[in-house]
Order: sequence, then structure tokens, then C-alpha cells
Amino acid sequence: MNLVFLGPPGAGKGTQAVEIARARGLTHISTGEILRAAIRDGTPTGLKAKQYVDKGELVPDGVVVDIVSEALAGGGSSTGWILDGFPRTLAQAKALESKTSETGVKGVEMVLYFAVPDEAVIKRLSGRRMCRACGASYHVDFMPPANDGVCDRCGGELYLRDDDKPQTVRNRLAAYREATEPLVDYYIEKGLLVEVKGDGGPETVRAAVEDILGERFC
Ligand code: AMP
Repeated sequence: MNLVFLGPPGAGKGTQAVEIARARGLTHISTGEILRAAIRDGTPTGLKAKQYVDKGELVPDGVVVDIVSEALAGGGSSTGWILDGFPRTLAQAKALESKTSETGVKGVEMVLYFAVPDEAVIKRLSGRRMCRACGASYHVDFMPPANDGVCDRCGGELYLRDDDKPQTVRNRLAAYREATEPLVDYYIEKGLLVEVKGDGGPETVRAAVEDILGERFC
């Protein structure tokens, strides 16, 4: 089962990807998470990516395509993968197709498009808190941790990502509209896109995703 999770920032892709990958034994590949780890560790990729991520702009295609190629080549689960936050441009989508066909690996089988209105995105991102240590994601109203500011999973410190601050969120939404939204039509034409109503709570969205996956993959 090879899936792409597509949608605006704050659509809940990451939250759903973690849960579904765990439940179904899939490899979860989040380019955002990989980039944040690279920035934290000060690697050459991290140094290159930081200026874009901090401003809410897209990191150049070549950088993220390399990250994903490496993650896919790393093997992982034979059950399949979830690409979360990739592709975000047409060039990335095409690069992914070339990579999978070059290596004889099965390509994308379904694109789940999480549709969420802008106002909901802004509300979600401003209340989102992330764990500095393990990257787990919470929301102060919709998915609070048991203890304020502390990660349930690892006890790490929770923080508001710099790129979840209002001005940067506006840039991220603009980048999404311009570069990423055209992928919706691209994948509709390929017959791969299925829309999920993403503006409910995490459990409601999860149930909708499971229904779709159950119908297609059993
Ligand atoms: P995310 O956690 O998916 O919202 O990603 C956070 C940031 O990482 C984005 O605002 C971009 O700066 C960068 N990023 C993540 N994935 C990609 C991608 N596929 N293409 C370009 N930039 C990306």
C-alpha cells in the first residue's frame, strides 16, 4: 500500500500518517520531519533547508527529492509507505514517478487529499504544539497533552514551531496554493485521488481514512 497524503499545512496529514502507519505497518516518510531533524542536527542538508523552512517557503525540489529517494531506498516496511508532505510540486511528483519506475519499485497507488478550509488551518496551526525531542504533535484545544507543555510519549518539551506563527503560516498557505494545489488536478487525472473531509476531529478523520483504505485495500 503506497500512499501520498496531500493537503494544506495543518490539514492533519501528519497526525493521521503516524496513526495509520503504526496500525498498518507502513513506513512513514515526512519530509517536514526529516528537514526539521536535519536543521536540529546542523547537517549540510539542514543548513541548506533552514532559510526556506524558517520563512515558510518550499525547500528546492532537488533537496527534498534526494531525501525521499534515500528514505525509499532505505527499505523500511515491505507493506508499503506513506509520503506525508511530499510531493509538494509538480516537479517533485514527476521525480517520484521516475525514481519508482527506474528502480522497479511500485509507485503511488492512492493519494488521500485532506480538504480543510483556510480558517480551520490557521486555528489548527496556531494551537499546534510539537515535541522538541520526538516530533509528536498536539493541539492545545483539540488534542491536548495530559500535562501542559509535556509530551505524553517521551516527556519532551512542547513548543510552538516558528513556522506555525501567523506571518509564516500565511507564506506557507500561499506556497501551498501556488505550488501544491495543482497536484490535486494532476492526481485526479491519474485516477489516484480520493478526497477526505479533513475538518473534523482526529478520530472522525481517522475513521473516514480507514473506510477509504478498507474499501480499496481490505
Ligand atoms: P511540514 O512539516 O510538512 O509542514 O513542512 C515544514 C516545512 O518544510 C515546509 O514549510 C517547507 O519549508 C519544508 N518542506 C517539507 N516538505 C517539503 C517538500 N516536499 N517540498 C518543499 N519543502 C518542503
